[in-house]
Amino acid sequence: MMNKRIPMRTCVGCKAVKPQKELIRIVDGADGLVIDPEGKKNGRGVYVCPDTKCIYDAIKNNGFKRSLKRNIDKDTIDKLAEELEEYGQENG
Ligand SMILES: [Zn+2]
Repeated sequence: MMNKRIPMRTCVGCKAVKPQKELIRIVDGADGLVIDPEGKKNGRGVYVCPDTKCIYDAIKNNGFKRSLKRNIDKDTIDKLAEELEEYGQENG
């Protein structure tokens, strides 16, 4: 019987706690805010559901600001939402 410990993470948007692999990591690294599906980039990271709604929720509830310790502008979020949509299309 499998009794493997699953790493859990909290979505910064809707605050749902889910297995890490069901969430998308977003990293605030050298290139700014980018999605990091493999979880390998350096930088401060947050997790969101693979849903653009949660990205925008994270702006409304200051989830990004709290987790990343800086303000994220709307343009950055729009770009991120686009990346997330592309990622979703490729993988589902
Ligand atoms: Zn969410």
